[in-house]
Amino acid sequence: MQPVQTISSSIACDDSASRGSWQSQLSGAIRDPKALLAAVGLDERWLPGAQGGHQAFEVRVPQAYLSRIKRDDPNDPLLRQVLPLDAETRAVAGYVTDPLEEADHTPATGLIHKYATRVLMITSSACAINCRYCFRRHFPYEDHAASRAQWGETLDYLRDDDSLIEAILSGGDPLVSSDSRLAWLVGELDAISHLKRLRLHTRLPVVIPDRVDDAMLAWLSNTRLQKVMVLHINHANEIDDSVINACERLKGVGVTLLNQSVLLRGVNDDVATLRALSERLFEAGILPYYLHVLDPVAGAAHFDVPDHEACQLHDVLRGQLPGFLLPRLVREVPGADAKTPLQVPPR
Ligand SMILES: *Cc1c(COP(=O)(O)O)cnc(C)c1O
Ligand code: SF4
Repeated sequence: MQPVQTISSSIACDDSASRGSWQSQLSGAIRDPKALLAAVGLDERWLPGAQGGHQAFEVRVPQAYLSRIKRDDPNDPLLRQVLPLDAETRAVAGYVTDPLEEADHTPATGLIHKYATRVLMITSSACAINCRYCFRRHFPYEDHAASRAQWGETLDYLRDDDSLIEAILSGGDPLVSSDSRLAWLVGELDAISHLKRLRLHTRLPVVIPDRVDDAMLAWLSNTRLQKVMVLHINHANEIDDSVINACERLKGVGVTLLNQSVLLRGVNDDVATLRALSERLFEAGILPYYLHVLDPVAGAAHFDVPDHEACQLHDVLRGQLPGFLLPRLVREVPGADAKTPLQVPPR
């Protein structure tokens, strides 16, 4: 499911009506380090680093997200999430290509069953945006993203295991797939009587809010399954009016909105920023769910926040937010049967 490759668009416009369909926004995303630097007003000094990182994991930034980045500021917290740096190409001990060891948990193509009662289905191989810290930046998606024919095997697996209550569409980003494909898949899940919930893990309503269109709301409205959407937002600046509008439409068809963030050095690694994020999420009708510590993926070590600092931040945050706006601070431990709450390491 690779979107059509296009030449990076230099058309910057704030008017969503003139941005075109979500599909054209997806294929028109910036995919060239040089174009990204030009768009945010950074000079050529940043180019060698950007090109080095781009070779390992390509640059991809949709215009709608780009419009929320401040120009001429290399430290902009949104830019830092998408701009490849020299540091990505340095090998750091302990940072590996498959930190979650997911390659070992795929009983059927396109499916990861690690936790009881729920399975994660890799619905699409691509994302609308490429986040530099992504724990799947080296994941062999092409081997795992199932074709329609291969879904047969995956759906059989779900039908045969009546301990399963929830199907989670993930990726990549499941909403990169077409609505006809998603409508078909959700229809198949709907028919599995032991399933109660449909969950989507997606960043698309944030990075291209126009993705939440009538065609998407139609298949979401059309299922008996309860719907949960876990968005991925790391900084309050990611939530503008267009995101709030997309969230309102989702809530209108009964979707429960949650958010997961990653704790990232230089993006959201201080109390004021995390607090502002929780407050802003709630304004958009989204509840904070998880705050993940970084998975030790090769190329992302420069985003790391040490455990003792993460715990300290979270403790202070606990004193400043109501319980329902405090995300759970967790780490993904390979082999564990759930996300693991962070423990302060002994000194
Ligand atoms: C994170 C994750 C889930 C969902 O976990 P919750 O705690 O229910 O949000 C399910 N399966 C896999 C493989 C996961 O990594
Ligand atoms: S949207 Fe999620 S899966 Fe896709 S690159 Fe970003 S962090 Fe990774």
